[in-house]
Amino acid sequence: MDLLADYRIPFVGLKPGKHEFQLRVDPEFFACFPHSDVDQVHGEVLVELDKLDTTMTLRMTLTATMTAPCDRCLDDVSVSIDGSDRVSIRFGDETSYDDELWILGSNEYQLDLADAIFQLVHLAKPNRTIHDNEDDCDLDMTEWQDPSADDGDNADDIDPRWAALKGLDN
Ligand SMILES: [Zn+2]
Repeated sequence: MDLLADYRIPFVGLKPGKHEFQLRVDPEFFACFPHSDVDQVHGEVLVELDKLDTTMTLRMTLTATMTAPCDRCLDDVSVSIDGSDRVSIRFGDETSYDDELWILGSNEYQLDLADAIFQLVHLAKPNRTIHDNEDDCDLDMTEWQDPSADDGDNADDIDPRWAALKGLDN
């Protein structure tokens, strides 16, 4: 089964004018890219293709949610990612996919959008994923990471929750 078949749009049969397609982005899609550094992304890309006689314009708008470990507490956090891209398409002798201009050779009959969508997601993804509100972080994990919380020898400094646990032992 060709998992990326949905991401190829046969443009030859399309009438001139605007056409819309909705393509999903999900872990199954990213599994087709073994070098991907994201996979827990769920959402969709709205593709708007404006076909004219000799050119086409492609707009892709990403709306998705990414789940990744929080940089502060390592618990999973979901963040919205959005982005858009616009590509001009011309017809020529040889096919070449540049960032903003794609040339399609005379043998081409479909647009292969998988790579462009993959890049769109990677450009839209934040450099850091972190709970917006520190209170949402997993506190046990935060203290475990905090070296100052490691100093448990001093009985006066003991975390009250540990004191409560010790109390349970008695
Ligand atoms: Zn967190």
